Amino acid sequence: MEIQNQESISAAAKIIVQSRYTIALVGAGLSVGSGIPTFRGAGGLWTKLGEPSNNGYENFLADPKAWWDQNLNAKIDPERTKFREAIEKAKPNPGHLALVDLEKICVLKHQITQNIDNLHYVAGSKKITEIHGNRTKLRCVGCDMRWHRDEFDRITLDWKQTLPPKCNTCFGIVKPDTVMFGEPIPLSTLNTCVDETRLSDCILVIGTSATVYPAAGFPREVLSSGGKIIEINPEETPISQTATESIKGPTEDSLPKLVTEIKRIIGDDPTT
Ligand code: NAD
Ligand code: ZN
Repeated sequence: MEIQNQESISAAAKIIVQSRYTIALVGAGLSVGSGIPTFRGAGGLWTKLGEPSNNGYENFLADPKAWWDQNLNAKIDPERTKFREAIEKAKPNPGHLALVDLEKICVLKHQITQNIDNLHYVAGSKKITEIHGNRTKLRCVGCDMRWHRDEFDRITLDWKQTLPPKCNTCFGIVKPDTVMFGEPIPLSTLNTCVDETRLSDCILVIGTSATVYPAAGFPREVLSSGGKIIEINPEETPISQTATESIKGPTEDSLPKLVTEIKRIIGDDPTT
């Protein structure tokens, strides 16, 4: 397995170096090494609680005041509390840092992440689209304006008393930035993902079960326009069969090795 993985890493590094525009589609698996469980698979939140209903956004819009009341004041179930605590104390792992490195040496042009945990930014990545939002932010449903939660606390001092919170620009209702079940992806976010996918001739599919659309469609788009897929995941996924190379292993281990190999090929490794 180890030798086979090293061969896949070498082959993947060659493809990346030869590609014109490499992007990444990232999923919850990248943050497993930071102590945050996935949703699906062993230890996943949905595996324990069951898949949530599809009408989260509908329920929010039907009664945003009740939704916020519940969110701010109700007791949350212990599994969700555990999940939230895991995210709150998480730090970026070597997988996140490897992606920062790849961006710095201009090999990785953009990341589309499904993660909402903010760890890419904490690690230092800059060219990111958070397709499912960011848990540290709030967003207006009217104009898509975003605020950091702390900033919103500062500019709207009494928002917890007059629920639901309202936008200070268009007076639209404000919700968490994370995309709820049944909620459309904000248009400008989706457009960036589509544009980056069109530019790409190589996509790294990192730690995602590739089952949540539209994100799961991006690797297929790259493939159908003649590009290549490199998958990094310990498990088989629906993408595996179409991947040009599959690196089977946890990203906290295999991404740093991939970066070392890429740097060796392009001659940016101080040890060579
Ligand atoms: P998923 O839970 O559906 O799939 C996780 C994938 O990660 C699986 O394929 C699994 O094999 C793989 N994996 C497990 N350990 C790994 C490791 N150490 N290294 C690499 N891969 C590993 O997650 P998804 O595909 O991202 O999609 C589901 C949704 O879950 C997304 O919308 C995302 O918003 C949300 N989510 C986010 C976080 C987070 O922000 N950290 C955590 C849980 C879920
Ligand atoms: Zn607004």
